[in-house]
Order: sequence, then C-alpha cells, then structure tokens
Amino acid sequence: MPKKPRPRAKRREAERAGEKLKAARERLFQLEIGGSPERPLSVASAAVVEAHAESVPCPCCQGKHELVEHVAVTVSRVRLREARLRCRQCGTRRSLWFRIHAVGPN
Ligand SMILES: [Zn+2]
Repeated sequence: MPKKPRPRAKRREAERAGEKLKAARERLFQLEIGGSPERPLSVASAAVVEAHAESVPCPCCQGKHELVEHVAVTVSRVRLREARLRCRQCGTRRSLWFRIHAVGPN
C-alpha cells in the first residue's frame, strides 16, 4: 500500500515551489529595463533615481523597497547609477540600474 504523503513533505514541496516562483520572478525582474547594467533605465537626472527606485515593488512579495545605497558606477565606459535596494518585507536585495540621460546642454 503506498504511503500517504506526510503533511511535512507536502509543506516542503510547497516551499520549494514558492522558492522556484521567487527565483523566476527575480530573473524576470533582472530581464526588465533597469534590472541589469546592460539594460539601464533612462532618467533625466540623478535626482529622480532614488524616488523611482523606491517606487518599484519587490518582485518576490510586492513589498516596498528601501534604498540601501545609491552609487555611481562605470560599466563598459558608460556611467551608470546603481540603486541598491532591500525589500522591507522579505529582506531580499537587488539593484536597479539607471543611465542619466541629460536633456539639453549641461
Ligand atoms: Zn520582498
């Protein structure tokens, strides 16, 4: 007679599925504009980076992000801004990438 799956095994299975889903959402987030230095979000000035970064919800739990750090980085000779974020709800960390697209003469 086959053993019935124990509740604990079932719970583990659900947890694993949840982890998989989170990983998939995270990957998707990284593929979107702003999710990687190769595909930065274009913004008019550095001043909007922080507000924009905080307005993007966590891809795992839709929680609000907290801006941990805002740094200027150069990737392949392109000057970028990296907003390092941490989810206030689930604590996961990720970065959003921006490219300052100056409008008009500097
Ligand atoms: Zn989260």
